[in-house]
Amino acid sequence: MKKRLGLIGSGVSGLHLAYALKDEFDITVIERQASEKMRDGRIMSTQVHFGPTRAREERFHVPKWGEQPLIESIHITLGDKKLFVCNLQEPALSIDQRLYYYHSVNDLIDKGVDDKVDKESAERLVDGFDLVVDCTGKNGPLFPFPIEEALSPLEAPQRKCIVGYFKGIKSNLPLGVSVAILPEEGEMFEIPALTELGPVTILFIMAIPNGDLDVFKGVKDAVSFSQTMRNTVQQFFPDIHSRVEEHSFELCDEKGFLQTV
Ligand SMILES: Cc1cc2nc3c(=O)[nH]c(=O)nc-3n(C[C@H](O)[C@H](O)[C@H](O)COP(=O)(O)OP(=O)(O)OC[C@H]3O[C@@H](n4cnc5c(N)ncnc54)[C@H](O)[C@@H]3O)c2cc1C
Repeated sequence: MKKRLGLIGSGVSGLHLAYALKDEFDITVIERQASEKMRDGRIMSTQVHFGPTRAREERFHVPKWGEQPLIESIHITLGDKKLFVCNLQEPALSIDQRLYYYHSVNDLIDKGVDDKVDKESAERLVDGFDLVVDCTGKNGPLFPFPIEEALSPLEAPQRKCIVGYFKGIKSNLPLGVSVAILPEEGEMFEIPALTELGPVTILFIMAIPNGDLDVFKGVKDAVSFSQTMRNTVQQFFPDIHSRVEEHSFELCDEKGFLQTV
């Protein structure tokens, strides 16, 4: 009889572990949110999968996303100066995690992995399996995992993450991730990605707290988020602004944004 393995969390760690071990173990993936709820919920990340992750996905036969334009390059800008564009050794891809998790969980169920929507106590789970692996990511860990003070000298986050998935921005070519660094203020990452509604451009600001990019405090709805992003791009990121299409620039859906506090 196969040993019973419980994986708590169906983020990329839980999913890839399930794909890797599904033939040797009797696996249950335990997730606190139903996959439909994830698909219809808020964006979670910017999720660029680079060469090694994509090679693993190929090996595991993770669902394909059709013929998508791949991310070939990285563009670096410092202040208002475009420094260089370099080619990635292997192309990358960013698939909206809402879509990725939903399809991968359902694909795993088709391949014999059990799926359970629950937020059980760690103690109870341990009793039901031969091994439980905590894949709860940034919401975890469920099991004690002490911080090593010597390796963690910082007491507060050094950036606020502000992310929106937008329509109405012409691509930066060759298609790539663009990184614009504004010394003393933070960084902007521009990332081509695929969502259920089609291709989008992710604008991801990493703002130094209380600096000039930290202007999204209290912004809670999609319209105000789009307006604040439009103003910020116009003021600080002229290259992106030159590619914004005035009439079609908007979030891809009303849950297509997030920010950390
Ligand atoms: C804004 C942002 C941008 C990022 N961009 C990139 C990028 O471009 N490329 C990249 O490689 N990485 C990126 N990352 C990092 C990447 O998102 C994380 O490294 C990755 O999601 C970690 O995967 P994980 O499976 O460990 O955790 P998660 O993705 O956090 O998944 C954990 C899962 O566990 C579930 N869970 C939590 N608690 C419980 C519980 N008690 N019971 C049951 N289920 C539970 C959660 O619902 C979730 O589904 C980014 C992160 C952020 C925040």
